[in-house]
Amino acid sequence: MRFDLLHPREQLVQIMDRIYRYGLTTTSGGNLSILDESGDLWITPAAVDKGNLSPGDIMCLTADGQVLGPHRPSSEYPFHQAIYQKRRDVRAIVHAHSPALVSFSITRQLPDTRIIPQAHHVCGQVGFAPYALPGSAQLGENIAHTFAQGFGVVLLENHGVVTAGSDLLTAFQRLETLDFCARTQIQATSLGPVHTLSDEQIARFEAHPPPLPTFQPARHSSQERALRQQICHMVHRAYEQRLMTSTEGTVSARVDAESFLITPYGVDRRYLEIEDLVLVHEGRSEADKCPSRAVKLHQVIYAGHPGVNCIITAQSPYAMAYAVTGQPLDSRTIPESYVVLRDIPLVPHGQQYEAPEQISAAISTHRPAILIRNDTVLTTGGSVHQAFDRLEVADFTAFSILNALPIGPLVPIGEAEVEALEAKFG
Ligand SMILES: [Zn+2]
Repeated sequence: MRFDLLHPREQLVQIMDRIYRYGLTTTSGGNLSILDESGDLWITPAAVDKGNLSPGDIMCLTADGQVLGPHRPSSEYPFHQAIYQKRRDVRAIVHAHSPALVSFSITRQLPDTRIIPQAHHVCGQVGFAPYALPGSAQLGENIAHTFAQGFGVVLLENHGVVTAGSDLLTAFQRLETLDFCARTQIQATSLGPVHTLSDEQIARFEAHPPPLPTFQPARHSSQERALRQQICHMVHRAYEQRLMTSTEGTVSARVDAESFLITPYGVDRRYLEIEDLVLVHEGRSEADKCPSRAVKLHQVIYAGHPGVNCIITAQSPYAMAYAVTGQPLDSRTIPESYVVLRDIPLVPHGQQYEAPEQISAAISTHRPAILIRNDTVLTTGGSVHQAFDRLEVADFTAFSILNALPIGPLVPIGEAEVEALEAKFG
């Protein structure tokens, strides 16, 4: 879907709905705006239920100074105007009080976007604006002054966060990605020091992998069509369950011995459609499409494991707390966790680019899920459903252990119990 072709009213309603449903704002907090080509500023209204906005609620501050619409514009519109005046490249602004980012805001710390390469790529540099009274001209000045230094994201002292972009989707993705970093870092802190990536490691990610040769598919089998639908369904589900963000997470599924389908690079996961998926056949990818950057890794795993029919690489926040600290995620918690995941190897960052064969070698029927440090949770399965279940169980398991830490030390299942589970479940 070409989101940018929607009317600003529609874009604002859709993104506010996503922000609210994703738990990034309360019904009273948060506001968004778009500055259109003619200089009109479209903005969410003050004192209207954010969980139930419709396009007719959106207010317009026209370039010639009129205020159009049935409500008052958001009381924080002065800072929106101040940012647009200072930054000509900014055409959309998102402001929210997500709980995790407020935690950083009230401790006057910045979340580290270098915990995974993609987050740094999406958010860029993050700044901090000094406190001022909400809705005041002084707050507007403080925020605009900070944005004038070139940041894409600015945290507000004792308040929340403002993200900006050349369009609304970009500004939203920055909010969601920074919130992911904040949540992951908060969880990870209870495990130990958080490891962050160097400039070289980030640069390695930003260098696009060489494109695969392409081909024009002559036909699409029924099996392939069925898998397109299943993959889209699972990606939407993973997004709704916060196991993926709009810019993070790849799913692929084997069509036959020589082909698999994989999600594309750069398409918002919430809006993924069946035609966006990329067919890869004998090492060539469907023409005019851009497969996920993880395509090579998925290709190597399919080649090495005939029983694997689906691979998911995702950044679910609780399991990622282990990947960014390098601490082992112990699946010997409840029988379901151990039976579904078995022991979870932790492999070094960089192998996903330099040595995908080594990652493939770490996987087996008894090692169906692995963590790649500062990158991803990787699960495999005999079906899309099974790989998705493993991702869910990995994140639930991590969630349970992290939440158990303040209560008391984990008592793992003993060797005898593990042997009994292996005897029963293979
Ligand atoms: Zn606010």
